[in-house]
Amino acid sequence: MAVPLLDLKLQYAQIKEQVEDALIRVSSSQALILGAETARLEEQLAAYTGCTYALGVSSGTDALLMALMALDIQPGDEVIIPTYSFFATAGVVARLNAIPVLVDADPVSFNINPKHIESAITPRTKAIMPVHLYGQCADMDAILAIGTAHGIPVIEDGAQALGTVYKDGRPAGSMGLMGCFSFYPTKNLGAFGDAGLITTNDKDLYIKLKQMRNHGMEPRYYHKFVGGNFRIDEIQSAVLNVKFPHLDTWHQGRRRNAVLYTELFTESGLATGTGVTEFSADNKVLLPAMVYADSPYPNTHIFNQYIIRVQRRNALRAYLTEQGIGSEIYYPVPFHKQECFTYLNLNDAQFPVADCCANDSLALPIFPELREEQIREVVRAIAEFERTVSANHTMECSHCTCMKG
Ligand SMILES: *Cc1c(COP(=O)(O)O)cnc(C)c1O
Repeated sequence: MAVPLLDLKLQYAQIKEQVEDALIRVSSSQALILGAETARLEEQLAAYTGCTYALGVSSGTDALLMALMALDIQPGDEVIIPTYSFFATAGVVARLNAIPVLVDADPVSFNINPKHIESAITPRTKAIMPVHLYGQCADMDAILAIGTAHGIPVIEDGAQALGTVYKDGRPAGSMGLMGCFSFYPTKNLGAFGDAGLITTNDKDLYIKLKQMRNHGMEPRYYHKFVGGNFRIDEIQSAVLNVKFPHLDTWHQGRRRNAVLYTELFTESGLATGTGVTEFSADNKVLLPAMVYADSPYPNTHIFNQYIIRVQRRNALRAYLTEQGIGSEIYYPVPFHKQECFTYLNLNDAQFPVADCCANDSLALPIFPELREEQIREVVRAIAEFERTVSANHTMECSHCTCMKG
């Protein structure tokens, strides 16, 4: 049985008519950029993220870039980010000729480890930009406390975490000075192309970002500062407005799938439960930790991705591919090992946890429309691999000492 990593057609089938109506509506109106659909999207998502303001923009990457531009980040300024994330988090810093200052991952959540942030601060540090990786918040209490103590603003990269809440129920994107989101089609709320969002509670920043979105123009053809074309299309906003009311149901589906994975991996003897960080005979597969499992709020992990860890990851992935089961590696190369950052002259030994994650993590299918039998098939195939094939392969990650943090 084939199990794709993601099948957007199944989601589309649920909303096809409404989406097509919306597309025709935009098409007939010929109001194509920053119109009524975008205004409605912004209003709904400001409420959803618990923020006063939300601004639709051209992509998640541009949202991050704009947030840094709004802070007036200059060449040579430093921005503290995790070394383990999607490239955009680092790319936007480098594009402003600022310096990405990398911090290792937390061994349990894979998010930035707040323990190493303070020692990364220098007089040139202008922002801290944690990522809520895979749909689970970084440790914001610790990060915000450091930011406040040093007077450094915190920008949330929430591209994988729209609708995620922190342990006390505060939504992703509402805790830092600005929150940045992506509507790339494979994200939990995906447009029909590129789109993104910035949230903030700061009125002055909102006004600045709104002008920046359109070349820093206000009034028309008068430019107080240089912005860019960071606008969102009405087509994207219209599609997002149709999808948005389903988002929490889709999150429930992702969580239900995660719970089933836990049950099946446990039943099959491959794991004893979630949150284990040491491989052993009883834990050949490490299941994703729910770091805020004590929280009364269900959305502390929305499973934008479902990440397991295994010691022979590449061999397992090849085995799954052979059987028609989709998987992905998020992310095989942390920023400190990227060719484009060799100029940073980093000491590789500083990031043992990220190196470990890059070597042994694997994303399994988790999208809401997955059927139970497909999840059973994924676990069956992994159990079969562990029973029959695994021992013939060398370990890619011998589980060095890194996961002890
Ligand atoms: C997807 C993503 C982005 C970039 O969003 P785009 O809309 O693709 O530009 C930034 N950061 C993280 C963590 C992401 O996952």
